[in-house]
Amino acid sequence: MEKEDSIYRYRYEAHCHTCWCSGCGRSSPQEMAQAYYDKGYAGMILTDHFLLGNSCVDRTLPWEEQMKRYHEAYQAAAQWAQGKEFDVLFGIEHCYGNGKEVLTYGIDLDFLVSHPGIHRLPLGDYAQLVHEAGGFLSMAHPYRDRPYINMAVGPQPEYLDAVEVFNFYNYPQENQRAVELARENKLLATSGGDEHRCDGEAVGMAGVALRRRVHTGAQLVQELRSGDYRVIANGKLAPCAYE
Ligand SMILES: [Zn+2]
Ligand SMILES: [Zn+2]
Repeated sequence: MEKEDSIYRYRYEAHCHTCWCSGCGRSSPQEMAQAYYDKGYAGMILTDHFLLGNSCVDRTLPWEEQMKRYHEAYQAAAQWAQGKEFDVLFGIEHCYGNGKEVLTYGIDLDFLVSHPGIHRLPLGDYAQLVHEAGGFLSMAHPYRDRPYINMAVGPQPEYLDAVEVFNFYNYPQENQRAVELARENKLLATSGGDEHRCDGEAVGMAGVALRRRVHTGAQLVQELRSGDYRVIANGKLAPCAYE
């Protein structure tokens, strides 16, 4: 295990929120970056709630302005990280209805700006656009059972690259079902703290552990697609794929 820790030494939070774009976020982008930096993380992927989810972006703004709000949170954290051994990457947590959400990595501002209304597409159409742009989709907490989620609507694994098998704020049985979903569909695994505040308990407990630092969304997606990484579950390394 010690050997694994040195091989997969670059830890990235893969699911976190800021108060700039998420209605439930409690900390600024800079505060979130500071929190993960202080835990020795190599970086974080910002995944604020997108427009059908608990977004606090003003939906009366023109499309391009709305998209810029998401990117500004990322830019603020990235600027904070300049000159430090810490990388901030851009992502979103896209809700596609019924409280179901996919973490979207490897996309950028241009992608969002050039697809007005993308948040209203069925998951299959959304996935096609994201994949054409080189992006990566992991379903967030697929079996989380909460009042805002319609449990009658199941996951659609055919559109996914990965499943979030460890979400810090899930119950263990919810995470275990996510492992089974990944196993049955031969999907990769990701992990996320789903942290909304810089002093939250999930900071340092979740994410992905990579072999090398990644500076761009494209590099992140390449590392994930290689399948040669680990997920972080309660601070410990675990496999990213199942037999
Ligand atoms: Zn939230
Ligand atoms: Zn989330």
